[in-house]
Amino acid sequence: MKISKEIGYVLLAEMLILVPSVSHIVLSSRITSPMRIPLSIISAVFGFIDTFLLLYTSFKNPGRCSKCFTSEEQPAIVELGQETFSLKVCPTCKTLKDLRTHHCKVCDYCVDRLDHHCPWVANCIGRHNHRQFVLLLIFTTLHSCYLLIVNSLEMAFLDPPPGNYGGEIILIIISVVLGWSLASLLGYQLYLISKNMTTHEHRRKLFKKNPFSTTFCSNCMAFWKMTKEQYKFAQNDNKC
Ligand SMILES: [Zn+2]
Ligand SMILES: [Zn+2]
Repeated sequence: MKISKEIGYVLLAEMLILVPSVSHIVLSSRITSPMRIPLSIISAVFGFIDTFLLLYTSFKNPGRCSKCFTSEEQPAIVELGQETFSLKVCPTCKTLKDLRTHHCKVCDYCVDRLDHHCPWVANCIGRHNHRQFVLLLIFTTLHSCYLLIVNSLEMAFLDPPPGNYGGEIILIIISVVLGWSLASLLGYQLYLISKNMTTHEHRRKLFKKNPFSTTFCSNCMAFWKMTKEQYKFAQNDNKC
């Protein structure tokens, strides 16, 4: 029910991608320079890549955990590094939640390596679509920067001047607002990647000392490879 309400956010996100792209292509038709065509093609390519990543992140299974327990009383102790952690069974899904699995109240299921639930894609961001989500942030931020620069240059070099620059000014304002918001979110995600931490773990301060973090390079590699954390079971044998 909640997911269906978020379809409006997805459509809005898609409009915020496509409308500036198409508007730029229309506005740049007033330029007499031969650069008009490659600049329009770049704008269209950005719009296509952003749309693909948005839909991929939205429809991709984020890492939904399947039911593997019928009883809620089968805890397990795992060792990671020098520390031991207790695993619990989700009371709703009956799945054994490893240290990075958490229940999403919007989707109402457990997600492996849950980062957060994103209404803009109407989906959880988890182990299987987190990289695409970060790529979406990278490309939409670059897209906003591109539109900001190109529209500013076109305003300066339009020959002859069109009389008013209303369209370009609106596009520049949209690019600044979107670019700033996306860049802030991207910066936060890159910080978390460098620490091998999820948004859920960071906001809820789940660990006094992050047991997954090693070096900067290893943390980044682990993210782009989505390396599965290796636990050693200290008690019981409750692997799914
Ligand atoms: Zn659950
Ligand atoms: Zn969710």
